[in-house]
Amino acid sequence: MKYHIWTVGCQMNVADSRKLAAGLERAGLSAVDAPESADLVVLNTCSVREHAEDRAIGQLGRLKKLRERGKELRIAVMGCMVGPRDDDLRRRFPYVDAFARPQDFAPIMALAGIDDAGGEFWPTTFATPDAVTAYVPVVHGCDKFCTYCIVPYRRGRERSRTIADIRNEIEHYCARGVREVTLLGQTVEAYGHDLPDAPDLGDLMRAMHDIPGLARIRFLTSYPKDMTAKIVDAVAELPKVCESFYIPVQAGDDAVLARMRRGYTVAEYLDKFELVRARVPHAAMVTDIIVGFCGETAAEFRNTYALLERLRFDKLHVAAYSPRPGTIAHRTLTDDVPPDVKLERLHVIEQLEARVSTEINRTFLDSEQEVLVESRHDGRWSGRNRAGKLIHFEGAAEAGQLIAVHIERATAWSLQGTALPAPVPA
Ligand code: SAM
Ligand code: SF4
Repeated sequence: MKYHIWTVGCQMNVADSRKLAAGLERAGLSAVDAPESADLVVLNTCSVREHAEDRAIGQLGRLKKLRERGKELRIAVMGCMVGPRDDDLRRRFPYVDAFARPQDFAPIMALAGIDDAGGEFWPTTFATPDAVTAYVPVVHGCDKFCTYCIVPYRRGRERSRTIADIRNEIEHYCARGVREVTLLGQTVEAYGHDLPDAPDLGDLMRAMHDIPGLARIRFLTSYPKDMTAKIVDAVAELPKVCESFYIPVQAGDDAVLARMRRGYTVAEYLDKFELVRARVPHAAMVTDIIVGFCGETAAEFRNTYALLERLRFDKLHVAAYSPRPGTIAHRTLTDDVPPDVKLERLHVIEQLEARVSTEINRTFLDSEQEVLVESRHDGRWSGRNRAGKLIHFEGAAEAGQLIAVHIERATAWSLQGTALPAPVPA
């Protein structure tokens, strides 16, 4: 039996798809690149914005047509489109054979004829890595309920994996060539509060640090209020933890933040930003912004712009607000910023992002960067430095090596250069 998994959305979905693939392969199925040659197609979906859902619905339309043309095909939908109740989905898409909530692999395994309940964390089924980097979910779900966000409704409450389980998984990966892991959580600092002895993210990083073969540890996504000095100190002290913080601010205006129920003010966000900068001076900073949230005035938007101009993030992800049925904002606020205004604000932030990233990236010109070599395309190697900057380079290298690269060109999106002869000592 052949399977095909289509994935959109966050790194958590990428990790889930890998894990599902591992389970299916263990049961004897083999992967194919296109739905046309598969017996089982799984769509791993995202609901964070309407556009992401539309893409999945488009895929479903294609699969339905394949079926109508006589192709024998089992279709499963998993991920954030599937909530605790799936009757509405079953009504809308009667030709789908199985719906599975995030991390609930059992309905898909059953569809493939495999009696493997899996269990939420599926501890015995670690994917075989196909890269030198791997995503490792450490805490599932989210308890925050920001007013715009569908995630807590779809991924449920926060549940942490044990340190032993996570270590086991990372050891498995590193024994098979992985050199860098990214510890994942919707709010990764929530890690551990629900476990005996309540270890935190810093404790988790310390407990992973001596795993043989592991060269780098990353973590995302951070929630400003939950970022503690202890966690920041762990990043500062542990040599394998990369100096890169992904701390979504969402807006630079207190009234907007209050409507979003983010639970912090701009001043409190700045305190956390300064805490990181003081203890990890060269840290790369990444953030998320939503423009055009309910009631966002021109003055409120200008405050967001001004904050971004002041903080100069290395990278930012900007999205236009997309109302999600079921969320607090959808029930209690009005989506009153016109689409063209949302789009214009989006472009303004994108332009700022391109300018600032170019300026920051140019400061790397003529420097030597430690790169973890990841892959080769069109005759060039690619990898990232500790700050997470994408670097393309020429010269001799091998995937998995830590190598020194001399930087010769910089754009907003990447750095380019040449490998220096001596590899960085492991
Ligand atoms: N937990 C993280 C945080 O605290 O921001 C991020 C997780 S969230 C699923 C990923 C990003 O999607 C958010 O940072 C936000 O910018 C964006 N997002 C979530 N809901 C959205 C919505 N309704 N419309 C537009 N963007 C949204
Ligand atoms: Fe969504 Fe807020 Fe949770 Fe992030 S912290 S996943 S934005 S509810």
